[in-house]
Amino acid sequence: MWIVIGLAIGTVAGGWMGLRIPMTAVPQRTALSHSLGALAAALVGISEYIRDIRFADDRVRMTAVGFEVVIGSLTFTGSLMAAAKLQGLLPGAPITYKAQNISNFALLAVLIACLFTLIVAPSASPLFTIMVLLALVFGLLLVIPIGAADMPVVIALLNSYGGLADASMGFVLMNKIQIITGSLDGTSGFLLSLLMCRAMNRSALNVLFGAFGKIEKEEQGPASGAKGTVRSITPEELAVVLDSARSVIIVPGYGMAVAQAQHGVSEFAKVLQKRGIDVKYGIHPVAGRMPGHMNVLLAEANVPYDHLYEMEQINPYFGEADLALVVGANDVTNPAARNNKSSPLYGMPILEVDRAKSIVVLKRSMRPGFAGVDNELYYNSKCMMLFGDARDSLNKLLSAMK
Ligand code: NAP
Repeated sequence: MWIVIGLAIGTVAGGWMGLRIPMTAVPQRTALSHSLGALAAALVGISEYIRDIRFADDRVRMTAVGFEVVIGSLTFTGSLMAAAKLQGLLPGAPITYKAQNISNFALLAVLIACLFTLIVAPSASPLFTIMVLLALVFGLLLVIPIGAADMPVVIALLNSYGGLADASMGFVLMNKIQIITGSLDGTSGFLLSLLMCRAMNRSALNVLFGAFGKIEKEEQGPASGAKGTVRSITPEELAVVLDSARSVIIVPGYGMAVAQAQHGVSEFAKVLQKRGIDVKYGIHPVAGRMPGHMNVLLAEANVPYDHLYEMEQINPYFGEADLALVVGANDVTNPAARNNKSSPLYGMPILEVDRAKSIVVLKRSMRPGFAGVDNELYYNSKCMMLFGDARDSLNKLLSAMK
């Protein structure tokens, strides 16, 4: 009866959250799910230890339960921290302090020492309690120095940790299905985080220990002030520019998701295509707030899949494009990633919109994107800003064109 009640409550709560959550908040929702899954694994491990393992001199099960509880506990607090950062409840910028990596490694060493001692002497219950508390603290400390644009990698990594905790639980409970599903989750999450690191040209170690995003703050100071002239354009003027265009590349980003402008984008593209203009979409692997975010939104607006080009495929086309229309994308177009060694974005592959003959950016203000970095593109003499909500701007543009 208790299982059925628990199942019903969990299903209703999970279903309600899943249905209600906007797509832009999916990363923090995912982090929250990982934290609950990891908490469940940790609690099962703790109960198994209290109920059985501390009395039996079973070192194999103690090893499994130790891993389960340590990984589950640190994933629980680490995921909560990631969710709070992504939701804006905590500052997104990395929180760093002196000797951070050394103190984190020291804590990890103590944790491992506790685990090994317990494997040798499973009945040392006070040490077990200390190990759980240290793991909870370690999860928090692991995520606070990671900020801004590295969060997707962290979420994938926490997903992997959650899977490992589940696989360990499978060994504790001798449940083969759980060992298989946990291992699948653990490996796929790990590979996904490595692939994301590659897409952002970052090493996994650098993500975990590099305090990404801090350099920009230190070197630029608070003023992200004027760096040149910014030119704006009205929808009516843009409609005139489009009269002479033969090829247009649309670059969607997080702002398109916020504005829910995907249908406007799709309609705009259809109008251009009817005029014989070649339209392509350039999709950056980390545009938006989750992998595949742009693909899902554009599919919802019935954009044919063969019009979407991945970053490596589309970059050679920018030089020939008459217009690059950037719809709410920012970080993924920032030329500083190529030119400015002091930028935290340096080295991240970008969509090379600055090579197009002209560029129009749809966004509401000069505010930076997720990484908190000013975008040099907006000061380029070929670039014009169409300020406003992307959906409104597209509607005005469509009426001006009609
Ligand atoms: P971005 O750099 O976050 O920039 C989005 C831009 O959209 C903002 O500068 C914002 O400017 C604009 N915007 C917001 N609401 C808008 C609206 N209603 N209408 C028009 N514009 C609007 O986005 P991005 O270029 O897509 O880059 C993604 C970033 O998120 C990267 O740094 C990436 O590493 C990170 N990230 C990615 C994932 C993933 O897996 N895809 C997950 C987490 C984080 P205004 O405020 O001026 O309008």
